Amino acid sequence: MKTSFYQYPLSDLQELFKANELPPSGPGLLFNWHYKKRQFAACTVDLAKKSIEFVATHLNFDLPQVDVVQESQDKTVKFLMRLQDGLKVETVLIPFNGKYTICLSSQVGCAMKCSFCHTGLQGLNRNLTTDEIIGQFLMSQKWLTEHRPEDDRILNIVFMGQGEPLHNFDAVKKACEIFLSQHGLSIADQKITISTAGYLPGLERWKVEMPKVNIALSLHSPVKEKRDQLIPINKRYPLEDVLSYVQAIPEGKNRFVTYEYLLIENFNDSMEDAHLTGQLLTGKKAYISLIPFNPFPGSHYQRPDLKKVEQFKSILDSYKIPTIIRATKGDEILAACGQLNSKFSYSPKESE
Ligand code: SF4
Repeated sequence: MKTSFYQYPLSDLQELFKANELPPSGPGLLFNWHYKKRQFAACTVDLAKKSIEFVATHLNFDLPQVDVVQESQDKTVKFLMRLQDGLKVETVLIPFNGKYTICLSSQVGCAMKCSFCHTGLQGLNRNLTTDEIIGQFLMSQKWLTEHRPEDDRILNIVFMGQGEPLHNFDAVKKACEIFLSQHGLSIADQKITISTAGYLPGLERWKVEMPKVNIALSLHSPVKEKRDQLIPINKRYPLEDVLSYVQAIPEGKNRFVTYEYLLIENFNDSMEDAHLTGQLLTGKKAYISLIPFNPFPGSHYQRPDLKKVEQFKSILDSYKIPTIIRATKGDEILAACGQLNSKFSYSPKESE
């Protein structure tokens, strides 16, 4: 059975070539062909005959297929991607200054069951493989090149789509190696951010194995009872423990942790909540991203009005913590955090 080329970081591909007594130049040539030259068909240029035969016999270059594309007025693009087994995930391109941040999914569904999240309500179906993660990037890049050639650069990657990335650590780690590799997709250091609900076993590994990747923690409340309600794994992995890992970020220029705070009307948006958050994070290498909740059909939470959001921010400002109110780009196509797969509900049966 063939395996996907896109599941191999360069060092793994080099090992594969070595184990099969193939010329050592092959992996670099293949990376250059597929990632730098953006070619999708198997490479037949410059490779030794023996390598071409090996690739044809053992590797495939299958990628997820774009099923549906939705574009919003602010140029956000949401893709529904169909995987080889017919399951579907969403990927979002978020524009900034003529470039893009890509928001990737790491799982089909999610096991974390956050109460504000449409994906969480679906439960976990399965982990994505490395090639399915890389495939989301490549297919989005291809769409940009074909439809917006004037501004087709993806400079940032955030794992904020469906799934808890640290719960699918091995596949996400390999994908990040390919993203960061100078021979691969050449994403700059610290331009990849993994957003986590606070999955402690993954955080322990992140600190050791993925130091170049940034962390964004879904904080959403410093109050235990409220956070328990929003993020059920808070009961198993308490915030104090999670913070001790998150705040031990490797030293580096401008390294900081982003704390995401989803503001929900009359739940976690009081002035007291703001002060408690300020007290928790004051003096830390913190950056707060306030996200007014974007209601989706069936959710029982509501969005606070802008005045309340601004008051919340001004209290955090008084603690001298850099805080932004995140513009909810792509509102009309439900591309905001925790709302993926809301409109295109997938069903395994759909693909049968
Ligand atoms: S917010 Fe993230 S971690 Fe929580 S259920 Fe949704 S996808 Fe999973």
